[in-house]
Amino acid sequence: MGVTLQHLVGRKVTVRYPEQRATLSPRARGQHIFHLDLCIGCTLCDRVCPVDAIYMEIHKDPVSRKIEVDRFAVDMGLCYFCGLCEDVCPTETKALHLGPNFEMAAYDRQSLVYEMDRLQGPYPEQVFREAGWIATADDEARIFAEMQEKTAAKDRARAERAAGVGTDSAEATADPDE
Ligand code: SF4
Ligand code: SF4
Repeated sequence: MGVTLQHLVGRKVTVRYPEQRATLSPRARGQHIFHLDLCIGCTLCDRVCPVDAIYMEIHKDPVSRKIEVDRFAVDMGLCYFCGLCEDVCPTETKALHLGPNFEMAAYDRQSLVYEMDRLQGPYPEQVFREAGWIATADDEARIFAEMQEKTAAKDRARAERAAGVGTDSAEATADPDE
């Protein structure tokens, strides 16, 4: 009786879900969020998944030689939200992260396969900022800006190389008497 009374007047740790919602940690692992613009198509997440819950299809663009992602899907019915796929993702900021949404109940298993259009969501920075983890969000923003800078530098170098090759080959084919 003493324990019961203690709990009656004590601080409540449960909520009346779904009318009320608990505040989740921004690091809570729920539904995946995938950013196609950040993904480099390395397929590491697909290969590391212990239950083969990730389905990826990729191809190499013959002109740009970049890897393009044709399909990225996660079977939420198989996934057990271990977070390994997020851990191994080599991009900064992560092209794949587990977001805060955990409401994925469905009546048939097929609808638990989330294709790219259902895996959209905020970047990690936004998740942290909304949760009030400002320092972590600022770190993410800085890392993201650095990554974009590096990518832009690589693109510039690639364009310069291509222009150099174009000039060299034009010179090589030019008539030497001109
Ligand atoms: S969270 Fe774990 S089980 Fe789920 S897709 Fe990622 S690696 Fe696979
Ligand atoms: S590990 Fe990251 S970058 Fe590599 S394919 Fe998966 S989401 Fe894309």
